[in-house]
Amino acid sequence: MNGVLVILEFHDGWNRMSWEALAAGQQIAAKLNQPLLAAVAGGNLEQATEDLSTRPLARAYTVRHALLQDYTADGFIAAFEQLIPSIDPQLVLFPHTYQVRDFAPRLAARFGETMIADVIAVDCDSGRLRFVRQLLQGKLNADYCHSGVGPCFASVQAGAFRADTLGSGACIVEEFSPRIEAAQIRSQPCERFRESAHTVDLAGASLIVSVGRGIKEQSNLPIVQELAQTLGAELAASRPICDNGWLPMERQVGSSGQTVSPKVYIAVGISGAIQHLVGMKGSKAVVAINKDGSAPIFEVADYGIVGDLFEVVPALTAAVRKAKGA
Ligand SMILES: Cc1cc2nc3c(=O)[nH]c(=O)nc-3n(C[C@H](O)[C@H](O)[C@H](O)COP(=O)(O)OP(=O)(O)OC[C@H]3O[C@@H](n4cnc5c(N)ncnc54)[C@H](O)[C@@H]3O)c2cc1C
Repeated sequence: MNGVLVILEFHDGWNRMSWEALAAGQQIAAKLNQPLLAAVAGGNLEQATEDLSTRPLARAYTVRHALLQDYTADGFIAAFEQLIPSIDPQLVLFPHTYQVRDFAPRLAARFGETMIADVIAVDCDSGRLRFVRQLLQGKLNADYCHSGVGPCFASVQAGAFRADTLGSGACIVEEFSPRIEAAQIRSQPCERFRESAHTVDLAGASLIVSVGRGIKEQSNLPIVQELAQTLGAELAASRPICDNGWLPMERQVGSSGQTVSPKVYIAVGISGAIQHLVGMKGSKAVVAINKDGSAPIFEVADYGIVGDLFEVVPALTAAVRKAKGA
């Protein structure tokens, strides 16, 4: 076995988590002193081929077939079941996307392997891979070691690795044509699941004020909007705020929203559930305002204010205004 194979996701564009998985693969390949490889499956992969040719990879594979144009678990499993033995990698790594959750565990089972899903860190002890996963809503970290026999399958959590560490390079992109029969595809592809729309570029924001359920009612939102405006920050939210329709879905941060990495992330009335943390833990500095001193958000906060947001936020806005001389 040789190589770290990262299976990327492309459908009318890249799933941004693909690059995080590739960055993770790059780090692991360096630790194992093995080549970094990538593969992507689909029907129309011209753009993907072009993009991959500028990545720092030993080799990339475009896995093409008309039956892969629309994603189905059966089609993708059949395709990668043929590609993987032809490469014989030590590790097959995925981004932990909805699509990967659907097909990758079954793909791993075809090789007699278990999928180690949603990992936040990977290390290797004398060539043996050790993965870290979170348990109990992030309260515990657990180590998972692979036997070292057969390829290892793992997916990486959104936000656990930084895509901007990847760099560029030049790579040969090879086409792989799997044999797939229409009769193998047992499901009918429907409309794709849409993650929240990205019309607001929170990912590029350097300052974010994010609001959670602690705000209690939609009519209270102007308190945080005012702070965001005064600071010149983008406004973001936890999922319940967007689910309630109080702010548009594109302002949601987290595993089913956007991944952000601003210089400062101010979390107002947000508890710090793992699905929220994965979207913002790449922030350079986190300020948390919460009345519950034991809220998990304080575990990732650089600065914490334990207090009532209805007192703290207006005071903060006034202090910023004063400092700006406004
Ligand atoms: C598959 C899946 C995907 C998910 N994806 C996401 C996602 O992308 N993003 C996301 O955010 N969540 C996501 N969630 C939901 C997530 O699990 C949490 O339910 C959610 O993040 C909680 O939001 P919250 O922190 O705003 O609310 P809560 O957990 O209810 O926390 C509210 C906080 O406000 C504090 N508070 C209350 N009143 C005040 C006050 N007056 N002053 C100060 N503090 C106060 C409380 O102490 C509490 O800590 C997902 C869940 C699932 C199952």
